[in-house]
Amino acid sequence: MADIIKLLPDHVANQIAAGEVVQRPASVVKELLENAIDADATSIKLVIKNGGKTLIQVIDNGKGMSETDARLSFERHATSKIEKAEDLFQLRTKGFRGEALASIAAIAHVEMQSKPEDTELGTHLKIAGSEVVFQEIVAVPKGTSMSVKNLFFNIPARRNFLKSDTVELRHITDEFHRVAMAHPHIAFHYYVNGSELFALPKENLRQRIVHVFGSKTNQKLVPVAEDTQVVKISGFITKPEFAKKSRGEQFFFVNDRFIKSPYLHHAVLNAFEGLIKPSHHPGYFLYLQVDPASLDINIHPTKTEVKFDDEHTLYAILRSTIKHSLGQFNIVPALDFETDPNLETPYAYKDKNALVPKVTVDAGFNPFSESGSVKTVPQTQRYLKSRLGEKSWESLYVGLESKMGNAPECNSLRFESETITGSLFEGQEDQTQALATTFQLRRKYIVTSIKSGMVVIDQSRAHQRVLYEKFLRNSTIKQAVSQQLLFPLSLSFSKKDMTILTEINDSLKAVGFDFSVAKDTLQITGVPLLVPESEVGMVLDQLIADCQLETNGNSFSQTDVLSKTLAKSLAVKTGGVLESRYFWCRYES
Ligand code: ADP
Ligand code: MG
Repeated sequence: MADIIKLLPDHVANQIAAGEVVQRPASVVKELLENAIDADATSIKLVIKNGGKTLIQVIDNGKGMSETDARLSFERHATSKIEKAEDLFQLRTKGFRGEALASIAAIAHVEMQSKPEDTELGTHLKIAGSEVVFQEIVAVPKGTSMSVKNLFFNIPARRNFLKSDTVELRHITDEFHRVAMAHPHIAFHYYVNGSELFALPKENLRQRIVHVFGSKTNQKLVPVAEDTQVVKISGFITKPEFAKKSRGEQFFFVNDRFIKSPYLHHAVLNAFEGLIKPSHHPGYFLYLQVDPASLDINIHPTKTEVKFDDEHTLYAILRSTIKHSLGQFNIVPALDFETDPNLETPYAYKDKNALVPKVTVDAGFNPFSESGSVKTVPQTQRYLKSRLGEKSWESLYVGLESKMGNAPECNSLRFESETITGSLFEGQEDQTQALATTFQLRRKYIVTSIKSGMVVIDQSRAHQRVLYEKFLRNSTIKQAVSQQLLFPLSLSFSKKDMTILTEINDSLKAVGFDFSVAKDTLQITGVPLLVPESEVGMVLDQLIADCQLETNGNSFSQTDVLSKTLAKSLAVKTGGVLESRYFWCRYES
């Protein structure tokens, strides 16, 4: 048989490699920003057009490249960052594979201008689909400018696979956040379609977080700091009361590299246990510095997952550091329930027998006698009587009697005399059924009878459905009733969240929100009729989270997401006691 195996030409190999390195415009952004950081830049500009599909440009003031280096940098496995295999275990740079530029140049039109400090002139290079189009000498300032145009121009299938500009831009902004957050000492400028989205000066970490996530973030932060032999931890967590329903801002950086680690995330959650509701998420910005030798960042091509040598120790240290911070800033009560009470017993009590509490029995108590010789004064009353004297004890009960009289007999089972079923099952019931007993079971279900038997309704789900239909109807036929606020409500959001809110501007107005935008603040003057003022912030937070989730998937109808979120946030919850009056107004208003 003839030999059939051939070595692939370079440009084909590069294109294949590009499949791993470049999934979408955001991957290019990450690689270019990281190259600029590795080049010791102190100021980096990112320019994006059309969600990165038309242009991604990164301009840095780093150390630049000589003419030969400029040419070599586009070769595969060409890197200045490692020389031998051992270097892989002492990585202090972001890049090391020498694959990024070669891959990007294989699938886009790339233009580079670069000049090192010590030369007069720089190099201008143009490459398209791995082919050098031209190279010339130019007068440019020190540093490097990389433009990547028409991504996937030669792979139509990949280009068509890209999401809308808005979605791609969101991924790019996420990537920008991660890099900018990891390097507060570098100044960043970010331009989208000609306007400046971020201008971040060189600053400290706290300022950087506040600049990126909005001015309201400052009051939420609690510093975290710990220095051990294994790891140095610094950064911030958000106070438990600011925990959000959506995952929100959760960042881990290891040796200045953004990483995802479900295991360490768990350590943080564990430290917050008992302080936030189970469905809520804490925010954190945590920076871990470990010995590069104890870290393997080579296990994932896009390098957001890492492997630590001693994960268990890291987990324990992280958990206790966060607990300590929470305690130190008076966020948790200083009691530690995990300590063994036997070790904490004061000496005076040690080895002494506990006193048996005295029980006094009322021998004269007769449950069957209504009145007469034996008085049916409850035991507590009699006790108080003896303690406080005949006259004064009764004053303690003033006002209590009437309240006690109204108290429900049974808490878990609430009987309603007014029927709820009338509105839910119109037509299914005859009039005699109208007085049917309807009650709430375990604060979760409404149980009621209908002609053909009995129905059990999940109160929260049912209400969600009703509200959902209502919001959907309102927003599509544009008849939403807005309730004007006496005093406008000011809510601040991060730039990213603000972008989402402006995107769904029309839908928000259609359901009844009325607002104006001023920088990172939303001035809300009107809210939909069903939304209580106190819940507006929570509803909008949830909305932002849901929109983000939806746009990452395919099916995105703004009004649908909006109606779903509003319904979910405003429906009566499991565990909520239903008053018939309340129930009516929630349904009918
Ligand atoms: P890696 O970053 O893994 O080394 P890249 O393909 O991203 O691989 O880059 C190849 C080389 O090009 C780098 O090792 C570096 O020497 C050089 N280089 C890339 N971008 C820049 C830049 N912005 N400034 C200076 N040198 C750069
Ligand atoms: Mg690189």
